[in-house]
Amino acid sequence: MKAVTVPFFISHQGCPHTCVFCDQRTISGASGVLPASEDILARIELWRATSGSRPLEVAFFGGSFTALPKAIQAELLLPLQPLLNNGTLDSVRISTRPDYIDAGHVEWLSNRGVRTIELGVQSLDDTVLASSGRGHSAAASLNAIDCIKNNGVNVGAQLMPGLPGDTPVTSLHSLEQVIAAGADFLRIYPTVVLAGTELARRYGAGEFAPLSLERGISLCTLLLQRAMQADVPVIRIGLQADCGLDVDHVLAGCWHPSLGQLVRSKLYADLLCRYIPPGKCVTVSCHPARVSDVVGMKRNNLLTLAGRGVQMQVIQDATLKKEELKVTTEDTCTIYSISKDITYSIHEV
Ligand code: SF4
Repeated sequence: MKAVTVPFFISHQGCPHTCVFCDQRTISGASGVLPASEDILARIELWRATSGSRPLEVAFFGGSFTALPKAIQAELLLPLQPLLNNGTLDSVRISTRPDYIDAGHVEWLSNRGVRTIELGVQSLDDTVLASSGRGHSAAASLNAIDCIKNNGVNVGAQLMPGLPGDTPVTSLHSLEQVIAAGADFLRIYPTVVLAGTELARRYGAGEFAPLSLERGISLCTLLLQRAMQADVPVIRIGLQADCGLDVDHVLAGCWHPSLGQLVRSKLYADLLCRYIPPGKCVTVSCHPARVSDVVGMKRNNLLTLAGRGVQMQVIQDATLKKEELKVTTEDTCTIYSISKDITYSIHEV
């Protein structure tokens, strides 16, 4: 059963770095106060009341948890301990930088209920990391993944395609390497240019060209499909407006409030265009959770198929997997998979 996540946004207080894309210093004035114990407990209680029988997880998002002074980390985790002990709370999730993790620290966190650590890997190309001011190497990320896994804690990797110096080839290589290293899940956040950052200065000076929305969607489609082929879930594509991102500060780059849907819709559209010949009348069945992706935003996929002379109706079928589509014509019925029955070349991006 999927856990209900009680989110707490931790700004990057104490983070000594200045990544070129980061506007945390700009927004930390507004959100730099860490939650007090009573606020943490009150919010958990609020979410618990509506979570039913689903497991409850507390997540400290939006910064580098392990870069905070250890005493503050302990203070944030302390009120959770009785709830973990009596079963009200099931687990804790944190996000952090790869170079602020070592085996001892993972064990310390694990002893305090942390079951998932999300790492801001961003890229596994040292040139891209250096051009982005990350202040750590690719090796630091691979070490961190190793440390976390060796302590039996789940590890998620956040990747940022489109950073300075990045190419579709290096993005794909980063994804393949974090998967090979054992990442349990991924988040893909294509780079956006935020006002007040070094990246904004470079963009304004013509020194940096961000991914367009269209190119970002193509790249994310390829990355998502490779992750699906490896059976590693991608739990989010694109930054979330309510998680510290002020959309009014987005100057350029690949950002859309429903980027994940656009990417998944493209996968389904490409599959349908490939296998349904023009002029057919078809019924497409899909998992109930995927109907809006198959239909497409503003019915875009239906319109694309109609433009090829295909009349398509979409119906739900809970027996299908999320990546499957059943295409029924008057004389055939075939199940396709978006992870297996379509391939993208890196050169198409
Ligand atoms: S590590 Fe995170 S919080 Fe620190 S500067 Fe980079 S993006 Fe911002």
